[in-house]
Amino acid sequence: MPVCLECGDRIRYGRADKKFCCDECKVRHYNNLAKVSRAYRRKIMNRLSRNYQILEQLVKAGESSVELTDLMSFGFSPDAVTGFHKNRFKSDEYWCFDIKYRMTDSRIYSISKLQNVSLNLQVDMEKSI
Ligand SMILES: [Zn+2]
Repeated sequence: MPVCLECGDRIRYGRADKKFCCDECKVRHYNNLAKVSRAYRRKIMNRLSRNYQILEQLVKAGESSVELTDLMSFGFSPDAVTGFHKNRFKSDEYWCFDIKYRMTDSRIYSISKLQNVSLNLQVDMEKSI
C-alpha cells in the first residue's frame, strides 16, 4: 500500500500511483518544496552579493591580485559565480555579474570591472528579442 509523501500515512483509496492522502498534504508538500527552493536561491544570491561587494571594493582599491584565504576570511565564496570560462593557457576566468577575475587554487587576480555594462545589456536584450 502506498504512503503519503507528506505525512507518511498509508493511502487507503484512489489510484495506485496516488502520492498524497489528502489535498492538505499535497498543498503542504508543494509549498514546502517551493519554500526550500526559495531559501536555496536566497542563500546563493546572498553569497553572490557578498562576493560582489568584496570584488567591487578590490576594484575600487586598485587591488588586482589577492590571496584566496584572505578573501574567504571576509566571506568570499569561491564557488559562487555567475559565469565561467575555461582557459587552456591561463587560469580559468570567472564572473560575478560585471566583474571578472582569474582564479587559481590559492589566489584570484586580474580583477576588473566590465565597462559599458548598459551598452552590453542593450545588445543582449536586442539579441533575445
Ligand atoms: Zn498525508
